[in-house]
Amino acid sequence: MRPQNEGVESGRLEVREVLLVRRPTGWPQPSDFQLRVRSVERQPQEVLVRNLFISVDPYMRGRMNDRPSYVPPFQLDEPMTGAAVGRVVSGGGDLQRGDHVLHHLGWRDWASGPPAAFQRFDPAPGIALSAYLGALGMPGLTAYVGLLRVAALKPGETVFVSAAAGAVGGMVGQLARLHGAARVIGSAGSDRKVQHLLDRRGFDAAFNYHCDDLVEQLRLASAGQPIDVYFDNVGGAQLEAAISLLNQHGRVAMCGAISQYNATGPEVGIRNLPLAIGRRLRLEGFLVGDHSDLAPAFRNEVEPQVAAGAIPVDETVVDGLEASPQAFIGMLRGDGVGKMVVRIPE
Ligand code: NDP
Repeated sequence: MRPQNEGVESGRLEVREVLLVRRPTGWPQPSDFQLRVRSVERQPQEVLVRNLFISVDPYMRGRMNDRPSYVPPFQLDEPMTGAAVGRVVSGGGDLQRGDHVLHHLGWRDWASGPPAAFQRFDPAPGIALSAYLGALGMPGLTAYVGLLRVAALKPGETVFVSAAAGAVGGMVGQLARLHGAARVIGSAGSDRKVQHLLDRRGFDAAFNYHCDDLVEQLRLASAGQPIDVYFDNVGGAQLEAAISLLNQHGRVAMCGAISQYNATGPEVGIRNLPLAIGRRLRLEGFLVGDHSDLAPAFRNEVEPQVAAGAIPVDETVVDGLEASPQAFIGMLRGDGVGKMVVRIPE
């Protein structure tokens, strides 16, 4: 049988893409998305890429709302955009057939566009391509920027990170360990994840945040040591608990507030914020996109460690483009460990 889209370098191409068809209220539903098959005429000057992995990320939830933010909202009935890696099938500009590329054309099996829409990269031997969407991609750089630049971690300090079994949080834990933190504490949403952090990821302490007394859990996890750095992925009650136990001159890298992304009621207020005054705390929000100058240093440092296994990479792989809405919702719910990616079978 002739493979689908054989000889796609020219002529017509059948593209499968996932659209956002309804803006979610509260938790997204699979029916907010739709798979469309579209026949497109190949433009000879365009680069054509077969997607291999696509990324589902928490920020996408914010873009589904029709309100101003640091990125514009997704358009209804348009394909979901976002990070993906693929292989060039038909080159252009400096891109050759067979090159691996990163791009932001998102939830589709084929991507085409001008050469400038694609960024070539050479995957290091032994590293899975999907890692370039996670540990070695935007989430990994987020961890690097937040921990080392924003929070300015110093050796000997105690670090607490929430969503510690996730893409960003997992990397924060590994980088904190490698940069000399005296104690690395993580929180996660299930006992299975907590055990994973303790048994396999070198966390000194970890706890399940679905508990009655977060401050007490954090106090136990910190073994009496005040917390110097809190890497906040979730906001809400965990941010409040961390502030209670932050050291003098403690720092909070405010990375995300996923506990609030699907909330339909008023946002949770942080009741103990005045503690920041007497303790001289610094709470600093950041966006990874403002820190791309650190990308080369990040890659030079982290890629060899991932290749050598010194930084273990967790990921959850969901198969098939049609499963991307479920993968996205599952990522928000905490179904996976590490970076959630969707594999597009070739
Ligand atoms: P993750 O891989 O960590 O996936 C999200 C995780 O959030 C889930 O696995 C779940 O884990 C946890 N979670 C879901 N609901 C809650 C809740 N109510 N309370 C606490 N935890 C919850 O995602 P990423 O690593 O990609 O992103 C982590 C955070 O970083 C997000 O807030 C994201 O928006 C932010 N971010 C910010 C960037 C920036 O530039 N500032 C860039 C990239 C990400 P569990 O099972 O433990 O509940």
